[in-house]
Amino acid sequence: MLDDILNKEDLSKEEIITLLSLDNKNDQQKLFDRANELRLLYCGEEVHLRGIIEISNICEQNCVYCGLRADNKKLERYRMTPEEIIETAKNISNLGIFTIVLQSGEDCHFDSDIISYLIYQIKQKANVAITLSLGERTFEEYRTWKIAGADRYLLKHETANKLLYEKYHFKQQLSERLEHLKFLKSIGYQIGSGSMIGLPMQTIEDIADDILLCKTLDLDMAAFGPFISSPDTPYQNFNSGSAELTLKTMAVARIVLKKVHIPATTALDTIDSIGREKGLSAGANVVMPDLTPFPYRSNYQIYPNKRGSLDDPTVSTASLQKRIEALGRKISSKRGDSLKMDFEHTV
Ligand code: SAM
Ligand code: SF4
Repeated sequence: MLDDILNKEDLSKEEIITLLSLDNKNDQQKLFDRANELRLLYCGEEVHLRGIIEISNICEQNCVYCGLRADNKKLERYRMTPEEIIETAKNISNLGIFTIVLQSGEDCHFDSDIISYLIYQIKQKANVAITLSLGERTFEEYRTWKIAGADRYLLKHETANKLLYEKYHFKQQLSERLEHLKFLKSIGYQIGSGSMIGLPMQTIEDIADDILLCKTLDLDMAAFGPFISSPDTPYQNFNSGSAELTLKTMAVARIVLKKVHIPATTALDTIDSIGREKGLSAGANVVMPDLTPFPYRSNYQIYPNKRGSLDDPTVSTASLQKRIEALGRKISSKRGDSLKMDFEHTV
């Protein structure tokens, strides 16, 4: 019966739940192997690197799970200057990484003009794709940044369960987040979304809904990382999510979503010392190294003990490349645009 489900073209919610519930190690390995086979078919052997610059840890939101939430007064806050950001982007492209992700809390200091300036300057100096991950911003801002040259937007839906979404976010609604994602797609962004695995009160049914929601949204990238309990947040005493369930979710997502980029996340690598390797062998084809420079990188504390947060970014990129190559995989020298686009930008 397992083989039948693994080889089906379209999976029902019940079948997705069956796969997510597999607890026998041999069965789980079959699931991971099937996802790996489909990853090879749809994405090939190349792993795309996306270099993240965490441009500010200042946030106006209060997501209950996140260490950057506005009410966390213990965190030392920072904002990188435009010059530092542009210089870091140039350094990242010199490392042979052709996507720059500008990520931050919801920090309105980085307004329409400043982000447009950053996009323009980075594009002038480096031949890279730009992903924005700045939280929920206005539709006007999204439009301006697209015109300025942004390529992609990453905005996770976090959970497809409307009631849980409201519990986690107070002011924000799931319906609004989905409207933002649809708008971003409609104006030409390649969109990334996804959810956290192992959030307090989340069920396996919710995770099945997360995967199905990613299918409805027709995402270009789907990211699933474990929830990691973070001090000085209302959820500090809850258990973190497990690597096992995260890996099963990624594998099922590959089977259901097919031609989509799936990252092996830093959060997975934080809770499992070989999380990247396991993720890349269970359907993932993307890695998003944190390349924020010192002294800022250790203060982007979404959750504690983030893997690599004390390492020199250049050294950690070299070690990451070795880990990927040890799996027999190759680092891509392309931008790694959407697998749904019928052309690929060359660098
Ligand atoms: N502020 C932007 C946003 O929310 O989209 C971008 C930065 S936010 C820190 C990036 C992602 O971190 C979120 O989408 C969320 O999934 C993840 N995150 C936040 N708190 C986390 C936690 N405690 N464990 C694991 N991931 C977490
Ligand atoms: Fe802010 Fe993003 Fe963290 Fe929410 S997840 S508190 S929006 S940084």
